[in-house]
Amino acid sequence: MGEVLSGKVLANNLKEDIKNYTKFLKEQGKAAPCLLSIQVGEDPGSEYYISNQQKVSESLGIKFIKKSYGEGIKEDDLLKDIDSANKNPEIHGIIIQLPLPKEININKVLSSISPEKDVDGQSDINISRLYKGEEAFVPCTAESILRLIKSVKDNLQGLRAVVIGRSTIVGKPAANLLLQENATVTICHSKTVNLKEICREADVLVSAIGKPKFIDKEYIKPGAIVIDVGTSSHEGKITGDVDFDSAMEVAAFVTPVPGGVGAVTTSILLDNVCKVYRKYAD
Ligand code: NAP
Repeated sequence: MGEVLSGKVLANNLKEDIKNYTKFLKEQGKAAPCLLSIQVGEDPGSEYYISNQQKVSESLGIKFIKKSYGEGIKEDDLLKDIDSANKNPEIHGIIIQLPLPKEININKVLSSISPEKDVDGQSDINISRLYKGEEAFVPCTAESILRLIKSVKDNLQGLRAVVIGRSTIVGKPAANLLLQENATVTICHSKTVNLKEICREADVLVSAIGKPKFIDKEYIKPGAIVIDVGTSSHEGKITGDVDFDSAMEVAAFVTPVPGGVGAVTTSILLDNVCKVYRKYAD
């Protein structure tokens, strides 16, 4: 029987540090670190993430500015607003909530964020730094995946890691971080043949596909670490990609949904806002 790999311990440690830091700033009469969230159009998934980010920010003493634009906003107007946020010393981190409407050039918009304020590692410059192994802001979900794995297995050298999902925001950066840890990494996707067999070779299995309970014990090597990134709405509940009870029969560790990857992601995002503050405004 496996163990539950909860994200709450990691998240609470980060939250404690952030709270102490913002308290210290307040005592010094300094302004709070500030995160600007930009959303275009409406998306129920984004609404859930944004309200959670806002709630956690405010509980930790971080200022959260929420800008919501209608679907019809012109790309140039959006770029102008991002440019002025880049130049505004009172804003320390900027996150563009995804998805963006099809009419907007997502790459251009994400890459218009100053790399120094790009706290979710969305810009081309940070992606390029990550792939070259340079210091970078990394997409917070990918960072959360790695920290959870390393919380139970510090040395990943030589291990087989399989990441299912190849999005720019989750699958690819997670695979890259695992590669930097000297794991042998395979990335799978919807066109992968023999997915089950490949997954069964994994010492570390990361699933980021968004299909409720898709991964059961048949996909899992005995003793593996299983990280469930998926968050889908299923029978009125937020559900992961992994059939938790089945996976626990064979895996060594399984992250729950909710309470796993997602719990750590927001804390990493806010910790990154504090890092920017420390660097430029302390
Ligand atoms: P995405 O852009 O839709 O990517 C999904 C990936 O899964 C794609 O690469 C797709 O392959 C692959 N896939 C889909 N069906 C598959 C199948 N049957 N077999 C193998 N691969 C399959 O999604 P995302 O943005 O990466 O997010 C993935 C999941 O993580 C979603 O549930 C999302 O809500 C969740 N998420 C959670 C957090 C968190 O903090 N907990 C943060 C971000 C996202 P193709 O490339 O071939 O289409």
